[in-house]
Amino acid sequence: MEVRDIFETMDYGPAPESPDVAKEWLQERDGVLDHFIAGKWATPESEEYFASNNPANGELLAMVADGNEADVNLAVAAAADALEGWVAIGGHGRARYLYAMARHIQKNSRLFSVLESLDNGKPVRESRDIDIPLVARHFYHNAGWAQVMHDQLPGYRPIGVVGQIIPWNFPLLMLAWKVAPALAMGNTVVLKPAEYTSATAALFADMCREVGLPKGVFNLVLGDHKAGAALTNHQDIGKLAFTGSTEVGRILRRATAGTGKKLTLELGGKSPFIVFEDSDLDSVVEGLVDAIWFNQGQVCCAGSRLLVQESIAEQLHSKIRNRMSKLVLGDSLDKGIDIGALVDPVQLENIRKLVDLGVEEGGQLWQPQSTMPDTGCYYPPSLITDVQPSATLAQEEIFGPVLVSMTFRTPAEAVALANNSRYGLAASVWTENINLALDVAPKLKAGTVWVNCSNTFDAASGFGGYRESGFGREGGKEGLYEYVKPFWESRLSKEPVQQLPRFTPVDDVSGDEAPEIDRTSKLYIGGRQVRPDGGYSNAAYDATGKVIAEIPAGNRKDIRNAVEAAHAASSWSSTTAHNRAQVLYYIAENLSARSAEFLGRIARLSGKEEASARAELDLCIRRIYYYAAMCDKYDGAVHATPFRNVTLAMKEPLGVIGIVAPEEAGLLGFISTVMPAIAMGNRVVVVPSQHYALLATDFYQVLDTSDLPGGVLNIVTGDQDVLAEVLAKHYDLEGMWYWGSRQGSRMVEEEAAATMKRTWVNYGLYHDWENDEQGQGESFLRKATEIKNIWIPYGE
Ligand code: NAD
Repeated sequence: MEVRDIFETMDYGPAPESPDVAKEWLQERDGVLDHFIAGKWATPESEEYFASNNPANGELLAMVADGNEADVNLAVAAAADALEGWVAIGGHGRARYLYAMARHIQKNSRLFSVLESLDNGKPVRESRDIDIPLVARHFYHNAGWAQVMHDQLPGYRPIGVVGQIIPWNFPLLMLAWKVAPALAMGNTVVLKPAEYTSATAALFADMCREVGLPKGVFNLVLGDHKAGAALTNHQDIGKLAFTGSTEVGRILRRATAGTGKKLTLELGGKSPFIVFEDSDLDSVVEGLVDAIWFNQGQVCCAGSRLLVQESIAEQLHSKIRNRMSKLVLGDSLDKGIDIGALVDPVQLENIRKLVDLGVEEGGQLWQPQSTMPDTGCYYPPSLITDVQPSATLAQEEIFGPVLVSMTFRTPAEAVALANNSRYGLAASVWTENINLALDVAPKLKAGTVWVNCSNTFDAASGFGGYRESGFGREGGKEGLYEYVKPFWESRLSKEPVQQLPRFTPVDDVSGDEAPEIDRTSKLYIGGRQVRPDGGYSNAAYDATGKVIAEIPAGNRKDIRNAVEAAHAASSWSSTTAHNRAQVLYYIAENLSARSAEFLGRIARLSGKEEASARAELDLCIRRIYYYAAMCDKYDGAVHATPFRNVTLAMKEPLGVIGIVAPEEAGLLGFISTVMPAIAMGNRVVVVPSQHYALLATDFYQVLDTSDLPGGVLNIVTGDQDVLAEVLAKHYDLEGMWYWGSRQGSRMVEEEAAATMKRTWVNYGLYHDWENDEQGQGESFLRKATEIKNIWIPYGE
């Protein structure tokens, strides 16, 4: 036998990592994990603990404090007490703490990674080489943001006490994604980890103590959904950041509706992994290992839906099977394994059920003859072919090492299949043709697109979902905005700033005056004036209470038609920013050309003196100019991610947005809310102010002469609160903005939970629309866009 033969035939032996140091750390605490509140360990008020086991062998790892409302109250109070001091030490002071935390994590990285693998079941190779280095990277990166916050985010301030709830799949990494930016921006934190995985969060708390983090800046409450719900409902948190399932995300959207708590939801996914026929198939196979077998497939953005071009499907499936049969399953502390244990028997059962269902629905299941450990929660890597796009397995998140495969023929079909999902977290595109990759990337509805790579993350890049994968971004500069609020928000008024005229309606127009019904106003849908479906109208009054016209009373069908028209105008979202700017300038020009008519109307409806009406009109024109200017200036970024990539952070329109314009603010309120949305490429269905509806219906005359494509701006007049509810419930809107009452705001946020549409509501507070700080600016543009991060191979 030659040495070469020995290398080729020799089996890998086990390469065990010692659990001793991690077990010692647990033993120092008598195997008990407590809350960490105000810089000290705190036993649960209930005195209850539950068991947390090592999923690789079922052995007891620790007893975990079962937190409840009383514990959450203490933790939030501690965070509130610490807030002032944490803000006062300034960006540099906070940067030094975050830097110390990053260093401490690096110095104790092996302890962190071993404890993580014992608790979660993930291979220690992954926790050592991926999770923990990324955790340190997030603290370094955000130490930097703390340092430069003053220069880089002028006009913003911390939110206050932030509640954070995380899942079990990347316990410490999810903690880092949330805690590092929150602390950097001057907030204090109460974090609740998942009940299955509390150990590294407790180790992190211990580290906060060791680095001397001021008491109460970071607080940890352990426990299950009870503690999560108490944190969600606590009235002293200004923000809730959640990562977990879409189901729980919906509960939290409803629970926080109308409270004014800022909310980010990082939810589930069913991410497509698209392989074109010219791909380098060996790289594709390794990419798939990262996409679906990394962390046992328990990854929110796992490439779980393989879409492969028909011409190479068989060849690729055969290569995948071959690679799958070489994947080694085993104990998480064995460095020679590829796939560890699933987090809990409950999860194992879920996967089994879903796979059985997939087979019943006609999927062809293939699993290698892997050797499985005798005990623990293991599931073999699985490939399911012949899956229909509508099948459960193609639509539902499995959250396990199960790849489902479908074929396509053309790039257009690949995009259609990829987007045929209620989720939109990530997508991976494989082709050697850069033109094809960059043609497909903008068409994919996903927050992250990886070109010829998969599951690549970095603190400098934003991450987050489209659609039911949630909203908000974590990482990058875009992620920081989730942990700050603009100063101007605190200056919003409880009373209307712009006033509606006070009058008593005068329905009987007596005397010799001719009736003043001077123009038949209609709805404006798809670029055409249309009669309302219901055939009803409401009276329009002038500032003295005299009826001057009839305004159509739109209904549910009118909204439905308007939304359809808006969807049909999708080319507005892909046209160039330069084109959009020209149309907006043209709108301003045509509005200016009709000054006399609009001045008369503003004066008549508002009772304003001529000079004041002119000031409003001038401000409207200036504001349209502002948004025309910003069309091609509120642009994206290239993130400095530390791999062979450039990461393009592209700002994309939400899609179709429903807007309920402020009732009291006349033409200015209409322009100020509609223009930023269309400037960024959205299509809009707007319900204008009821009192000032005639100004909106006059405005479509301006639109008709301004080259705005039909369907981009649709105007449905009528009862604002009735139509707001129809918009909020609509399944085909991506966003909804609402300026109205407190109850209306709550209703919008509650109803939006069904589709996870992005909402922006005023909670019954009033903007001063004449003030540029409150009436225009980047805050409006940010709400009109979401960021897609596209990772492209670049450089050496
Ligand atoms: P989960 O939603 O069951 O639990 C997440 C967290 O919420 C846990 O801490 C849990 O205790 C808490 N919780 C449960 N019910 C609650 C309630 N009613 N009120 C408040 N808190 C409550 O999710 P999971 O099973 O732990 O994690 C898996 C899910 O997380 C998957 O859907 C996955 O896609 C998603 N995930 C998303 C991302 C992302 O960035 N988008 C990252 C990782 C995981």
